[in-house]
Amino acid sequence: MSNYNINTKCVQGGYTPGNGEPRQIPIIQSTTFKYATSEDMGKLFDLEASGYFYTRLQNPTNDMVAAKICDMEGGTAAMLTSSGQAANFYAVFNIANCGDHVVASSTIYGGTYNLFHVTMRKMGIEFTFVSPDCTEEELNAAFQPNTKAVFGETIANPALTVLDIEKFAKAAHAHGVPLIVDNTFATPVNCRPFEWGCDIVTHSTTKYMDGHGAGVGGCIVDSGKFDWMAHKEKFPGLCTPDDSYHGITYAEKFGQGGAFITKCTAQLMRDFGSIQSPQNAFLLNLGLESLHVRMSRHCENALAVAKYLKAHPKISFVTYPGLEGDKYYSLTQKYMPSGTCGVVSFGFKGGRAAAEIFMKHLKLAAIETHVADARTCTLHPASTTHRQMNDQELAAAGITPDLVRFSCGIEDAADLIADIDQALAQV
Ligand SMILES: *Cc1c(COP(=O)(O)O)cnc(C)c1O
Repeated sequence: MSNYNINTKCVQGGYTPGNGEPRQIPIIQSTTFKYATSEDMGKLFDLEASGYFYTRLQNPTNDMVAAKICDMEGGTAAMLTSSGQAANFYAVFNIANCGDHVVASSTIYGGTYNLFHVTMRKMGIEFTFVSPDCTEEELNAAFQPNTKAVFGETIANPALTVLDIEKFAKAAHAHGVPLIVDNTFATPVNCRPFEWGCDIVTHSTTKYMDGHGAGVGGCIVDSGKFDWMAHKEKFPGLCTPDDSYHGITYAEKFGQGGAFITKCTAQLMRDFGSIQSPQNAFLLNLGLESLHVRMSRHCENALAVAKYLKAHPKISFVTYPGLEGDKYYSLTQKYMPSGTCGVVSFGFKGGRAAAEIFMKHLKLAAIETHVADARTCTLHPASTTHRQMNDQELAAAGITPDLVRFSCGIEDAADLIADIDQALAQV
């Protein structure tokens, strides 16, 4: 599939049926797989042969869907996870351990911020958060001798900052570490971070990829471009023998293109078990088949809503990276010229109270802890997802108390605007 356009990869990537085989990907609803001899199975355990033995590690349905996302991103290997949280945890923990350090953008998703700032800190991994808008000098100053990765979001949820991928990749590579980018909001339809120097991409497939609010899931894709062996001393997990896998050295045995995902599957999935169910992978694939069609409608609707809000007297600010005049407009023209995402955020001249009244009066847009769905949904982060944060932390995450996140679905733009209009009339 790799020579086809992204639109074709969405529909047909990852699975090509042979003669008489099912047109749709089969759901392999089986925990285990049968072998003729113990020796045959032993080879799988030693990673001497590839194949399936237990769905906690790998399942054929999941692998077909991971192969599609891998193809869409232009990577060399990919794996599904049970959630976006699991994808980001695995992607970082695969190379950063107790005593290590990671540089991350400060405007990342609240769940990822908690994972890094609270839970992974308890595991002995330190994080330095930098503004995505920092200068190269500020970015370089954040690195330490024990830094193992740099992390950011293509378009941050919900701050809607846009990552200057080349700037972050350059700094990461100058310090001998990979750049990990969470590409959930842009999706590979609108941005392919590997084309700009990113090394590893993660996704919450729960969002646009699934697109129908049907299944929580995640994905990790490796570009195969990062030379682990050239930075052997930094990445002993990939470049020295793994005693729990009979002394295999991943970077030698599976090469630059396969080491990261093989280690992540063989060690982390084996030990933590955050596998996606094959049933959910099937649903995810249905979503992927129309992702390119939906993304253009999401973006079209969001732009119409952003323009309407921008001209409204009760609105104090509108943030939409695809809107001319937005702080990140020039970066989006570079990294995602065909569209950004369906999420618009805005604030009220009447502050937090006005935001609360507005939320109460929406009829078509539903209040949900969800985003990037075919149906329009909306959220007031300060009173929900980000309520753990104090005002200072909120500001660092790019969120004000009056900010409303509005995720435009694929309904008719005129109906969305009419709903917003009547709710604003109550403010
Ligand atoms: C939702 C989200 C996550 C977490 O994904 P889950 O599937 O909810 O675990 C991570 N990153 C971004 C950008 C998200 O929007």
